[in-house]
Amino acid sequence: MRAKRKALRRADDLLAAGLIPLERRAAIEAVAARYALALTADIAELIDTADAHDPIARQFVPDDAELESRPEEMVDPIGDDAHSPVKGIVHRYPDRVLLKPVHVCAAYCRFCFRREAVGRARPLSRAQLDAAVAYIRAHNDIWEVILTGGDPLVLSPRRLGQLVQALGTIEHLKIIRVHSRIPVVAPSRVTAAMVGALKAPGKATYVVLHANHARELTANARAACARMIDAGIPMLSQSVLLRGVNDDAAVLGELMRALVECRIKPYYLHHGDLAPGTAHWRTSIEEGQGLMRALRGRLSGLCQPTYVLDIPGGYGKSPIGPSYVARVAGENGAARYEVEDFRGRHHTYPPGPATSVSVSPRLPVDGAAQ
Ligand SMILES: *Cc1c(COP(=O)(O)O)cnc(C)c1O
Ligand code: SF4
Repeated sequence: MRAKRKALRRADDLLAAGLIPLERRAAIEAVAARYALALTADIAELIDTADAHDPIARQFVPDDAELESRPEEMVDPIGDDAHSPVKGIVHRYPDRVLLKPVHVCAAYCRFCFRREAVGRARPLSRAQLDAAVAYIRAHNDIWEVILTGGDPLVLSPRRLGQLVQALGTIEHLKIIRVHSRIPVVAPSRVTAAMVGALKAPGKATYVVLHANHARELTANARAACARMIDAGIPMLSQSVLLRGVNDDAAVLGELMRALVECRIKPYYLHHGDLAPGTAHWRTSIEEGQGLMRALRGRLSGLCQPTYVLDIPGGYGKSPIGPSYVARVAGENGAARYEVEDFRGRHHTYPPGPATSVSVSPRLPVDGAAQ
C-alpha cells in the first residue's frame, strides 16, 4: 500500500523535498508567516528543480518579493467585501452571486488575488451556509451561483453534495458553476463520488478550472477533468497572466491548446490583480494585449480566452483585449469603420444605416445587486 502523500506546508517540508536550498529557509519561513503556504504532493513532484525558472515553482514556492507591497496594492483588490450582503456571498452582478463555503485551498498560488483571506478565515458554519443559501432563495434574479473560495473542491463529496442539493431546491437558480484548481493540484480528489456530488437534478453544473501553464495538465490532471466532462459537466478555464510563467505567446498558446485538447474551453485570461506583494508577477496591460493579438489568427478560435481586468474597488470585470475596429471619419463627414485583420492589415467597412441603433439600456449604476 502506498503511504498517503502529504502536503508540504512549512519551509522545512520544502527543504526536505529538495525544493529550496538551506539558505532560503529563513526567508521562506518569513513569507509563510504572512501568507498561507501549501504545495500538494502532485505539485511538488511536478517541479523541475534543475530549472531555475520552472513555471510551476514560480507559482507555488514562496519568493522574498512577496513581502514587498506597493502603494497601489490592496488587501481586497477586487472589492469583494463591498458587495457581501451576507457572510460567504458576493453579489456584484444582478443575475449571479459568488458563494464561498471555504477559504482554504489544497495548494496556495503565491499570486492569489484573495491571498489576504485564504488559509486564514474559517469556513462558513452550518448556520452561515444556511443563511447564504436562504439569500439566494430569497432573490429571484439570481440565475447562477459560483462556488469559489478558497477552493470548494477541498470539501468532502458528502458536504459538497449537501450544499449542491440544497441549491438544487431553488427554483429560479439554474446554473451551478464551480471555480477550482483541484483537478490540477490534487487530481485524485476528483473521484466518482465528487463528480456525483456536483450535480443536482434540473440544474446545469459547469466547472471552471484554474490553470496557468500547459505542464499543469499532467496525465492525472487530464484524467480528472475527463471524469467530470464524461459525466456531463462542461469545463471552462481561467488563467492568470503571470510574468515568468505564461507571458509568452508560445507558452500561452500551448496552454490554450492543451486545454482545448482536454475539452476545456478557455474562458478568461485575467490581468494580474493588485494583491499585496504580487508586483513581480504583473505585466502591463499592453503586454497582455500584445499576447492576445499573437493568439488571434495563430490559434483556433476555440483557443481564444477573453482578456479581462477585475476593476479595483469592486466594479466588476471588463474585457481589456485589443480592439480591431475603429470608427473613422470618411469623405463628406460620414463615418466608416476600419477593421484590422490578424496580420495587422487594415480594411474598411461601410457605415451602418442612418437610423440610430437601439442599444440595450445600461444597468443602474448603484444598487444593481441589492
Ligand atoms: C468574477 C465574478 C463573477 C463571475 O463573472 P463572469 O463574468 O460571469 O464569469 C460573478 N460575481 C462576482 C462577484 C465576481 O467577482
Ligand atoms: S486556488 Fe485560487 S483561491 Fe486558492 S490560492 Fe490559488 S488563486 Fe487563490
